[in-house]
Amino acid sequence: MTAKSSPNCARCVKGDCHPPIKAGETPPMDRLPAFCPMRHQPEVIEKAVAEYNNPEVKEFARQASKQEFEGYEQLPDGLRKPKNPRILELIQFARKCGYKKLGLAFCVGLHNEARTLTEILENNGFEVVSVCCKVGAVAKESIGIKPEEKIFGAENWESMCNPIAQAEILNSERVDLAVMLGLCVGHDTLFIRYCHRPLTVIAVKDRVTGHNPLAPLYTSSTYYAYLMGKGKKKPPPPF
Ligand code: SF4
Repeated sequence: MTAKSSPNCARCVKGDCHPPIKAGETPPMDRLPAFCPMRHQPEVIEKAVAEYNNPEVKEFARQASKQEFEGYEQLPDGLRKPKNPRILELIQFARKCGYKKLGLAFCVGLHNEARTLTEILENNGFEVVSVCCKVGAVAKESIGIKPEEKIFGAENWESMCNPIAQAEILNSERVDLAVMLGLCVGHDTLFIRYCHRPLTVIAVKDRVTGHNPLAPLYTSSTYYAYLMGKGKKKPPPPF
């Protein structure tokens, strides 16, 4: 169980960090929930906000915020309609930042997608370098994987995923922006740790849902109720 004073924005129903007030008004700070980080860690937030005084960081944040704004069409009735798929946003944002050379770190299971994405990015004027997760052709045994833990069978060669090499190659290529495509849970963690270039994600790996890991959340009260574990409200039977 999470302690009350630990940040727990996921459980917040008030959302006083984004109140429906007019520009220039002050957000209410007197009714924050007990688990609100604005209540318990104001000094951390203040230090973080000071980081935006760095001109380079500020400009990057400004471009990201502009990209967010441009993701919507403002409708006459005051509503907003989202309009750009993430691939287009990647192209637009890279242009905003003046990036020319993009580095794709992709999973071998998404080789076709990597090829298509490369073509799209090149057709939009970018230089693209790409590195597959199996780069190096290093046997899985070298990191302690047992023969019976190999996906394609004990008797077969199996290259380990090598996210550190992917990151170091993109570092050495000095890409303007590294783009992760479909790396596995854990391999992505290593890639992020070793990549020293600006980094974004175009897609994450989900072998079951066509790389849409949120899909089970949308049916978590029916088909994916088992993910909730025991003792939760009994879901309606799926049909
Ligand atoms: S920052 Fe505070 S007000 Fe905002 S979502 Fe988190 S708990 Fe809620």
